[in-house]
Amino acid sequence: MAKCEEGYLCNVCGGDVGEIVESDLYLRFVIGLLDPETLHTTRERHIRCDPVLAQFIVDADFPAVVVEGDFDKRRLDAAYVREQETLVTRGFRRLKEIAGLDLPIIDYPLPEVRAKIEREARRR
Ligand SMILES: [Zn+2]
Repeated sequence: MAKCEEGYLCNVCGGDVGEIVESDLYLRFVIGLLDPETLHTTRERHIRCDPVLAQFIVDADFPAVVVEGDFDKRRLDAAYVREQETLVTRGFRRLKEIAGLDLPIIDYPLPEVRAKIEREARRR
């Protein structure tokens, strides 16, 4: 990550979100849950500090997160869970990829998310 992007504190645990692969903000941006225009006004937090989203990451590099209660993925519709796991895991892998690249932020999102952002930008 660039120097200027370091030092953001998690609004859940208060710890430093030092790496892009820990960033819930960038994960949401990459998978299209966060509008690029709100990226700079949205509070940062760790991916693991938002378990409802984090539980959908299925990757050897990400310690599995379990949610207790109504949002536990084991209680949710199987097709929805598969869809979310595919998307959020791709997002996490994209963050790992980005960490090793020197990309402008606008190129961070997954290809279909980038295409959607571009379509919406043209409509304005
Ligand atoms: Zn945290």
